[in-house]
Amino acid sequence: MLGQMMDRPLLISMIARHAEQWHANREIVSVTADQPRHRYTFREALTRARKLSNALTRGGIKHGERIATLAWNDFRHFEIYYGVSCAGFVCHTINPRLFEDQIAYIANHAQDRWLFLDPAFVPLIETLQPRLPLIEKFVVLTDDAHMPATRLPNAISYEALLAQESGDFDWPDFDENTASSLCYTSGTTGDPKGVLYSHRSTVLHAMSAALPDSMNLSSTQTILAVVPMFHVNAWGLPYLGAMVGAKLVFPGAKMGDPETLQQLIESEGVTFAAGVPTVWQGLIAHLEKSGKRVDSLKRVLSGGSAVPVALMDQMRDKYGVEVVHAWGMTENSPLGTVCSFSPEVHRLPVAQREAQRGKQGRAVFGVEVKIVDENDTALPHDGKAFGALKIRGPWVASGYYKSGDSAAFDRKGWFGTGDVATFDPFGYMQITDRTKDVIKSGGEWISSIELENLAVAHPAVAQAAVIAIAHPKWQERPLLVIVPKPGQKPAREELLNFFVGKVAKWWIPDDVAFVDKLPLTATGKLSKLQLRQQFQDYKLPESTPGR
Ligand code: ADP
Repeated sequence: MLGQMMDRPLLISMIARHAEQWHANREIVSVTADQPRHRYTFREALTRARKLSNALTRGGIKHGERIATLAWNDFRHFEIYYGVSCAGFVCHTINPRLFEDQIAYIANHAQDRWLFLDPAFVPLIETLQPRLPLIEKFVVLTDDAHMPATRLPNAISYEALLAQESGDFDWPDFDENTASSLCYTSGTTGDPKGVLYSHRSTVLHAMSAALPDSMNLSSTQTILAVVPMFHVNAWGLPYLGAMVGAKLVFPGAKMGDPETLQQLIESEGVTFAAGVPTVWQGLIAHLEKSGKRVDSLKRVLSGGSAVPVALMDQMRDKYGVEVVHAWGMTENSPLGTVCSFSPEVHRLPVAQREAQRGKQGRAVFGVEVKIVDENDTALPHDGKAFGALKIRGPWVASGYYKSGDSAAFDRKGWFGTGDVATFDPFGYMQITDRTKDVIKSGGEWISSIELENLAVAHPAVAQAAVIAIAHPKWQERPLLVIVPKPGQKPAREELLNFFVGKVAKWWIPDDVAFVDKLPLTATGKLSKLQLRQQFQDYKLPESTPGR
């Protein structure tokens, strides 16, 4: 027997209508190339999104067709999210930091029809344009006054496009499983793979992500989205913000500029921000140097890679900002776990409770998680057993867009994340490695992330990476690669001794290499692949402290 409730589809337009009506006057503040501070309200934003739906429809875009963006976090990108998806088209956000070949591959693979691009990317796209035969129109995200001269065919400024349109557009109802947006994973090997989100997955993800033990968002908050809108929909913040009616602050191209971030936080009264750990490292360094403060900021959600507890301590003890760890990935929309404290963890002795913050936390409602061994048998939650992390849920990808690559999807409906993790008896997950980064020494696993977290707590270390080096007897042994803090020259022995008593003796790296900088991927993460290539001929010393 079926329930007798209304079968209203979960559509992104539901979020938009709610925001237009009930959070109409809440502000959206942005930094753009043409305006240092643009501000308006949700109602104005969504009226312009309706204009965009009209423009796309009049331009002949059909249900399900892809519209690409190459853009920073700002109000126009926000309008595109809604104007495209609510009308039944698919918003394909492209990461401008990808290599040119990858951008061309992605746009062709997705068969994007129009491209909305920031003026800064016009030269890049002019170069690539001969390789983008399917794109019919180029909409530059600015007004006519700031429109750059361009040889792109059918180029128009965004403001000129909207100027011709009416703000009345009745967003239609359709199946909630309709595709809404598309984001490609950067793919360290092989071609990038597309994750095709649906309206239903997006709405459900936003609802769960807003919960108190997740991001804890409400209309009283001001959100600074430092995670790019081209990276997993800015972790859902443009949807969450509209759903709960929080003020939204977008830093535009200044996302990596701590000075702008500090100014935005202070002038707009930002209470919550989200981004990757390097953003917070940069912000702290700026605050220390300038003596500036971020007093309104209470909570920061940090994900994408592990945050060292030392950084969390500094942010909390000196600036009153609580850094909360979260884990997610493109295939998971992205949110999977958040490290908020349960009552049991609150009751732990201080040192133990503090240590929990270094873990990625508990599963959010809607995402099932488990760790398994090589035989796909679930492993215990004892805080020790390492296993491959698998997930399942209504906002987890069930395959890649137009791809035969199904290796990560098992027959029981679980997705293999490629991460290795432990779960403790309190249900807190800790990522110990990527499957391909874990160091296999004498048949046992060593967590590179745990060693890196310890190394960055050393006062002379700015950044650290631990990679496997092939070893004739042990198969692999860890090498610690560090970037010292400016003016510091820590000795090899001092760094290796720093691990003594903190990890098992055989985990201690065999050697230390000093570099000026670490290689990064297109999403700003440490590229272990490149680092391993850089050190492929490295010879470890004969005698080592580890064994
Ligand atoms: P990309 O695929 O471009 O690297 P994703 O955001 O999809 O971008 O990356 C997801 C991966 O990032 C996860 O599988 C995990 O390895 C890592 N990751 C995400 N959050 C954390 C975290 N809090 N701690 C450690 N690793 C994390």
